[in-house]
Amino acid sequence: MPATVALKYRLAMINLLDFDPTALGAFFAERGEKPFRARQTLRWIHRRLADRVDAMSDLARASREALARDAEIRAPSVVRDSSASDGTRKWLLDVGGANAIETVYIPEDDRGTLCISSQAGCALDCAFCSTGKQGFSRNLSVAEIIGQLWLANRTLLAEGVTAPWVEHGRHPITNVVMMGMGEPLANFDNVVAALQLMLDDNAYGLSRRRVTLSTSGLVPAIDRLREQCPVALAVSLHAPDDALRDTLVPINRKYPLAELLAACLRYIERAPRDFVTFEYVMLDGVNDAPEQARALAARVRDVPCKFNLIPFNPFPNTEFRTSSRTRIHAFQKILQDAGLVATVRKTRGEDIDAACGQLAGQVQDKTKRRVHRLHAAVTS
Ligand code: SAH
Ligand code: SF4
Repeated sequence: MPATVALKYRLAMINLLDFDPTALGAFFAERGEKPFRARQTLRWIHRRLADRVDAMSDLARASREALARDAEIRAPSVVRDSSASDGTRKWLLDVGGANAIETVYIPEDDRGTLCISSQAGCALDCAFCSTGKQGFSRNLSVAEIIGQLWLANRTLLAEGVTAPWVEHGRHPITNVVMMGMGEPLANFDNVVAALQLMLDDNAYGLSRRRVTLSTSGLVPAIDRLREQCPVALAVSLHAPDDALRDTLVPINRKYPLAELLAACLRYIERAPRDFVTFEYVMLDGVNDAPEQARALAARVRDVPCKFNLIPFNPFPNTEFRTSSRTRIHAFQKILQDAGLVATVRKTRGEDIDAACGQLAGQVQDKTKRRVHRLHAAVTS
């Protein structure tokens, strides 16, 4: 087949990974198929991790052949696969158009966590984030988001991963954190569709408590998530007051702290956990002073929460430095003395740049942010 014909043929194929459970039901109904066919297909793709329609052996032959003619199962392809000394693994995945995203697998004693990306780049430009500095290209499709989970489970199972929590035939990924590249709530519909698949018993069957979405604080979208698909919520706070948060997390200028904390309170009414996790990146001399810890504790007094202090992970050309251990522990102690639960996040996968905020992938920036920066650097 000539390349152009092959390309056209490929583009015309429906990617079954793009359907959430409801959409797959509608797709089958449209084809005059019974609802249980959709459930069967969902199980083949997401439970048994089939990569071909032909493999779905208990689907009636006629349905299977018809489906194989115009649908396929297509996850992003792996460009690079890196393993860190602590067992953390990072996959660089090609999503077309010279964009690549990153997915990180973090094995722990009792669980396997996958950190999933939601966008190629990020438009929100937080000062301390490597993804933000890359600029923004586009939202990921449902297939590209859920494809990360599908691919990680498939790869690890094919390799015969052995871990204490992996029972025979069970998926090695037991927990998902939407903390990779991008702001998940800025890609709301596709992220929620992917979350529905993660939670569905015919797909990954994860409990809502084992799926955490991290946001920099898009208030209206937090409320929509509460209505449509409440999973565990982590909010990137990073500062005790608006003046500092405006500079570190620019979206704060649109949704300041008072509005954000009120949204957290509303969210908790529906959340699978009775608290929100606040992430707080520890930046030396910027947001890590004892008086800032006290101000922070006072600020969140009314919100049931736990703090996760994240030592800043450096990346090239950043002006920030990581707070010292002593300073992080002093900060933690002040929060704890104020009656708050505060833990320090263990940095994982540092030697392969897989730690929080280090994911850069490859992004064809549409915001021209990098060009502006370069220009500013040259003219200053
Ligand atoms: N966009 C979402 C989720 C992705 S970032 C959000 O901002 O919440 C996941 C977490 O890593 C966030 O708390 C983010 O603030 C933090 N982070 C970003 N850059 C970091 C860095 N260089 N070092 C440590 N944490 C970082
Ligand atoms: Fe985007 Fe989150 Fe990075 Fe901010 S911290 S730039 S919201 S990915």
